[in-house]
Formats: sequence, structure tokens, C-alpha cells
Amino acid sequence: MPLNSPTFDRIRDKVLSGQRLTGAEGEFLFQPEVDLHAIGELANLVRRRNSGDVVYYNINAHLNPTNVCIYRCPLCAYSCGPGDAKAYVMDRDEILSRGQEAVDAGATELHIVGGVHPEKPFDWYRDILRDFHETFPRLHLKAWTAVEIAWFASLTGRSYEAVLAEMIQAGLGSLPGGGAEVFHPDVRGRIAPRKADAETWLTVHRAAHRLGLRSNASMLYGHVETAAHRIDHLLRLRELQDETGGFQAFIPLAFHPEGTQLAHLKRPSGLVDLRVVAVSRLILDNFDHIKAYWISLGVGTAQVALAYGADDLDGTVRQERIHHDAGATSPQVLSVDQLCRLIREAGREPVERDTLYRRVARDGTT
Ligand code: SF4
Repeated sequence: MPLNSPTFDRIRDKVLSGQRLTGAEGEFLFQPEVDLHAIGELANLVRRRNSGDVVYYNINAHLNPTNVCIYRCPLCAYSCGPGDAKAYVMDRDEILSRGQEAVDAGATELHIVGGVHPEKPFDWYRDILRDFHETFPRLHLKAWTAVEIAWFASLTGRSYEAVLAEMIQAGLGSLPGGGAEVFHPDVRGRIAPRKADAETWLTVHRAAHRLGLRSNASMLYGHVETAAHRIDHLLRLRELQDETGGFQAFIPLAFHPEGTQLAHLKRPSGLVDLRVVAVSRLILDNFDHIKAYWISLGVGTAQVALAYGADDLDGTVRQERIHHDAGATSPQVLSVDQLCRLIREAGREPVERDTLYRRVARDGTT
């Protein structure tokens, strides 16, 4: 679409003057005919306003304690039933050894999510955090998606607040953004029909923010959703952020169909990836950070996304299983040197952050 379209001109004027875009304007930007690079330029401008020349990364590790999950979402290649040959449940020693490995590698954060195991009691999940926190008190525990928190509430008959408060006591530091997928019921009913619905996901995050926890938000795109569904999702996040201010980063996640019940679909292209990053940056004007999660986007696209509105490459991420089980071909770990090189090649200054976006100083350097 020519760049002098009146709609695009109006959007550009609004972005330049810091005005909020409407959902209809966001849907317009998702049309493939609208020039991607012009959208990227606007998103990059917003990114620069927020973060200057800085691109954040952190040193982290993932822990997925079990892949047994009661929900078996069609979008998921990772989960399985308890009797499945690939089923695993980590024991305490294995879990703690992952923590030691993370600490030895200089990690400041452990990202803990996994399946919703039908036979594990609430205490099993809580004690994972408690054991970690007692053994590695300086490691920030970003743990349990809203789907898992909702499961714990139904297991125990307690409120989300009560479950979160007990997890905080055990060592929970913040909530990750997973489990959001696409909120709209027409899509959710096809890709994740049984797990917590949109209202539940948002209510858990609202409760977390009220208790002083920060959290992230994500969107899994590139399967059966339309532009209208993506915009509905982004607007619901923007609304909650207006209310609580508790979200830190938005993470667009590219769908990887391999090994899922939706394996007949194609993975979204690099151009779709960049458009989602850029439109997200423009619509989510109250989110400080947009993450180019290299595990999901691939390293090359994540690096390019730094020019399309992203200001965060996530972290070193060792031991990730969920996206790799779905065919992600990104490496299992990136070193700090590799992350910094990717950022410098993009013309930005790499800054190590902790989970709460505070600069991390190491040996007098940042
Ligand atoms: Fe379970 Fe999450 Fe996979 Fe759904 S996406 S089956 S909730 S692990």
C-alpha cells in the first residue's frame, strides 16, 4: 500500500505526537499490503523514545520440571500424558542441580514453567520454589504461568491471591508471560480449549500486580488467528496495563507447528514476525519493553527485530524445552559474548539487566 495513504498518514502523525492508536488502526497495520518497513520505522522511533540506544539481555536459565500436562493443548508439542514414553518428572536433586548450573553460569534468573501434572499436589510446585530459594537466595524465580496459578487455585480451593501469596513466601519473584496464547475464544477454542481462559489469565495477572509482583505478557501468533484476534489480544493487555501498570515486557511468540496437533500449518514467515513485533510496539504504548525472544524467532530474525521495535533479546536461556520440542531450530544457549555481538552489530548498546530491568554490574562493568 502506498505510503501516502490517508490512514497511514494519520497513524504516523499520531505516533509522532505520542497519541494512542485505535484497534482499527492496529488492524490496518496488520494488512500485508501496508509497507512493513514504514511500520518498522515508526515502531523503532517509539522504541528509541523509550529505551534510547540500549538493548537489554539477561543471564538466565529455564527449568521445565515436568512435561506431563492434563490439558494437552493442540498448540503444544511439549506436553504428554503420564504414561507416555517421553514423560518426565524431575526429582528434587535434578531440579536443584539445574539451579546450581544456572548459578555457576552467572545467572540472575531462573524461568520455571511446565506442564500441569494431574497427580502432583500444590505442595510439590510450592516446594520447588522453596528449595530453590533456600539454596540459591539471590536467584530471581520467575515462575508459573497464569494457567498454572489457576490450576493451583482449583487444586486447593483457594483464591488466586492466596496461592500467589504462598508462592511469594516460598520465593516467587515475578510471573512469566506464558499461557496467554490468543485470548479470543474463537481461537482459544481451537488451539487451547481446555486450559484457563482469557478472563482467568488476566485476573491472575491483575491479582499478581495487586500483590506487588511484576509480570510479562505474551501472544502466540501465526496459526489460525486473524489480525482482528491479534488486536483484540493486544487491546486487552493494554487495558489491564492501564489499570495496574504491572507488566514489564510483551513477548510475541511465533508458533512452531512441528509435533503439535496443528502440524499441517506453516510457521509464520520472518516478515510476519517483524510485523507482529512492530505493531505490538505501536499498540502497546504503555508497555516499557518488547522482547525479541530469540528462541522463538530464531537468532537472525530476533536481531533484525531490534530495528522493528524490540529493545530486549531475553537471555542466555539454557535448557529450554518447550519451543525446541515444537521444532525451534535456534540454539539451546547463547553466550553473553554472542548476545552482545548481536546487539552491537545492530548499532545498540548491550546492557545486562536483572528480571526487574535493573542494570547488573559485574566486576565494575555494566
Ligand atoms: Fe500444558 Fe501448557 Fe502444553 Fe497446554 S501449552 S498442554 S497447558 S504445557
